[in-house]
Amino acid sequence: MNIDDKPHEECGVVGAFIPGESVARTVFFGLFALQHRGQESAGIATSEGDAIRLKARMGLVSQVFHEETLVGLPGHLGIGHTRYSTMGGSKEYNAQPLIANGQRGEIAVGHNGNVINAAELRVEMTEEFGSSFEKTSDTEVIAELFAKAPGSDWFEVSAYAMRRLKGAYSLVVMTKDQLIAVRDPLGIRPLCLGTLNGGWVVASETAALDNLGAEFVREFENGETVVIDRSGIRSHIWSSARANHAMCVFEQIYFARPDSILNGELAYETRQRLGAEVYREHPIDADIVVGIPDSSTPHAVGLAAEAKIPYTEAIIRNRYVGRTFIQPDQRSRAQGVQTKFNPMRGVISGKRILVVDDSVVRSTTITRVIKMLRRAGAKEIHVRVASPPIKSTCHFGVDMATLNELIAANKTITEITEYIGADSLAYLSVEGLLRAVRAPGNSYCTGCFTGNYPIPVQLEMNKMRFEVGSNT
Ligand code: SF4
Repeated sequence: MNIDDKPHEECGVVGAFIPGESVARTVFFGLFALQHRGQESAGIATSEGDAIRLKARMGLVSQVFHEETLVGLPGHLGIGHTRYSTMGGSKEYNAQPLIANGQRGEIAVGHNGNVINAAELRVEMTEEFGSSFEKTSDTEVIAELFAKAPGSDWFEVSAYAMRRLKGAYSLVVMTKDQLIAVRDPLGIRPLCLGTLNGGWVVASETAALDNLGAEFVREFENGETVVIDRSGIRSHIWSSARANHAMCVFEQIYFARPDSILNGELAYETRQRLGAEVYREHPIDADIVVGIPDSSTPHAVGLAAEAKIPYTEAIIRNRYVGRTFIQPDQRSRAQGVQTKFNPMRGVISGKRILVVDDSVVRSTTITRVIKMLRRAGAKEIHVRVASPPIKSTCHFGVDMATLNELIAANKTITEITEYIGADSLAYLSVEGLLRAVRAPGNSYCTGCFTGNYPIPVQLEMNKMRFEVGSNT
């Protein structure tokens, strides 16, 4: 459930194949680096070449795994997953990696993304393969498809799966002796490859490779399948994969860590360009530039440099207020924001302040921050949002709040300005966004801003659709 005023990323995945090493700890630290991509559950599966061992539970990576649990996961081959539920409830039985069985033996699967035709596939696979589904996530459908799909090798299996799956999926899959990693034909979610200690690691983001001390090799291509085993590494790109990827542009704006490389560029620098671009489109005079802590810092730094106005910290964030502290109702959310941020009167009082936010979903955070700045004596408050207004929900693995809750889907800019209590408000244009991310042609998904998705989607999907009692 989306409990603060940011869209929520779906999951992070890690895989490792390092002969002669026990990789559980490597996978653990990789997941730790990807904790921002999902905080509901965490899991690791490993193998020494004999059988898959698995531990997956609700909780943060550091809560689920301890020294003893890692010792109980031996083997040179492993995958890991950290989850934020986008389809299927936040339940332990949906924690990943998931296990499935088929003609190629037992497999474990970790998935980042969202498959939009999972409901149809469940019905079809029940008839075709005699599959029965016990869990409620789209990942169970993917795992079953990879376990049961026809094919003489993993490239054929993956190509078969790509023909049938619609949506976003960056996958780590393992058998007892092979690691398989897959990026969907649209390339919606990131996935990268690195080397470590004579072996290979894959991860959602390059920051995880950095934290592991691995050497970044490259990002996966759209529709690419990589198979790693004792005979080496092999790669194949599905012939029908899209030439230009349709990566989620929100990875650039907010989701990915700023120290990750996306589409060949450091996200921190891309975010600086987003800030500079919104200022070029909507300049205004001010005394100081302030970013909403902490995710908007690079955008604010970029805007301040373009505007030649000093950037400063004016609001200090309590780093120890976690998601669990904030309850999912409006009043508790408001209290949560107040507990999380503390404005510094000495910096703010009497100043014209240019506040930079990377994105606005419901407007809870920006509204509270403006109130705090006013109480601390701000003379004027001008808000610049370094992304366009969010007018549609996401269908590819991001929890955006409902259409009714998206403020830009329901109010004009003038109404939002008044609602949040700013003196002025301006958003980045879609054209400005594409300039800043240096997008060649149609190479990003911008669906939540434009309503145009890289593949047709039904409107308003319910992530609980497979739960018992779900009314869709
Ligand atoms: S709709 Fe928005 S959040 Fe979803 S994949 Fe597209 S750009 Fe990303």
